[in-house]
Amino acid sequence: MSVEIKDIHFSYGKVKALDGVDLKLPQGAIGLLGPNGAGKSTLIRILLGFLPPDRGGGKVLDYDIKNQQTEIRRYVGYMPEDDCFIPGMDAVSFTSYLGELSGMPRQEAMKRAHEVLFYVGLEESRYRNLETYSGGMKQRLKLAQSIVHDPRLIFLDEPTSGLDPQGRNEILELIMDISSKKNIQVLISSHILPDIEITCSYVVILNKGKPVAQGNISDLKEIKYNLFEMKIKSDGEKFLQKLKKIRCRVEETEDQILKVYMPPELDAQEIFKIASEEKTQIRHFVKSETSLEDLFAEAVGVD
Ligand code: ADP
Repeated sequence: MSVEIKDIHFSYGKVKALDGVDLKLPQGAIGLLGPNGAGKSTLIRILLGFLPPDRGGGKVLDYDIKNQQTEIRRYVGYMPEDDCFIPGMDAVSFTSYLGELSGMPRQEAMKRAHEVLFYVGLEESRYRNLETYSGGMKQRLKLAQSIVHDPRLIFLDEPTSGLDPQGRNEILELIMDISSKKNIQVLISSHILPDIEITCSYVVILNKGKPVAQGNISDLKEIKYNLFEMKIKSDGEKFLQKLKKIRCRVEETEDQILKVYMPPELDAQEIFKIASEEKTQIRHFVKSETSLEDLFAEAVGVD
């Protein structure tokens, strides 16, 4: 297990950010998915040993999050969501400095800084003051510093935040390369579903400080529910109420398509039975491929 934690609670004053998080994460690229405010960044900071949990504990790569922060810093990399730059520095000095903070000797850190900046495509600009960097360059620099010390695991907090489509593709490609070719496990936090779907095989969905679903993305899509898309004639209020009574969740899209999430033990015929009872005419009916977005909607629900 790369991460194993139990019953983690954390509050900022009166704000409860994590409310009992249990996780056992396997090898492979992991997505930490959740709406803004779900507790993703707080969880990452706890896993890194930056914040002490109010309750609970556990291990990252077999190192205790409460008292082995030095080892965690040595073997785990971190790309924070916010900019973490030191004004006036260039990319080489910044990256090698962070390598040293992770426990590398100075010369080694400098050598690796050049290598990782080359790897993320910043070799031409490595001596430029990094305050002059574009958004995309800053994200690539943050990614470079997260791997400078040859970690075994990296936590990437909202790595595509604020990027245009080209910048986003560049970062996602680098993340996939790191995860598949560099022997570094990645954990990516994001509220952007396609980013997780492209890069990860396993996902944890966090909502209001708690994991609400976790597993292999393909398994979760299979077992959680069946999704049907349909159109109905007239308003169908009673039809929808009855569907909800049999534990279907219904969502209406902008183009008046109804998405019905049906528990796997129910048969699609139930929908037609209820439609006939309520004299609701179904005009279009397809079993839909479930995407991670559907899974997310189902897990997080609507308030
Ligand atoms: P996410 O990364 O999923 O957006 P966060 O971990 O940043 O979520 O935040 C979880 C909750 O904790 C939110 O309600 C947020 O407002 C609150 N929070 C985060 N950081 C702080 C802080 N430094 N002080 C007070 N509340 C905070």
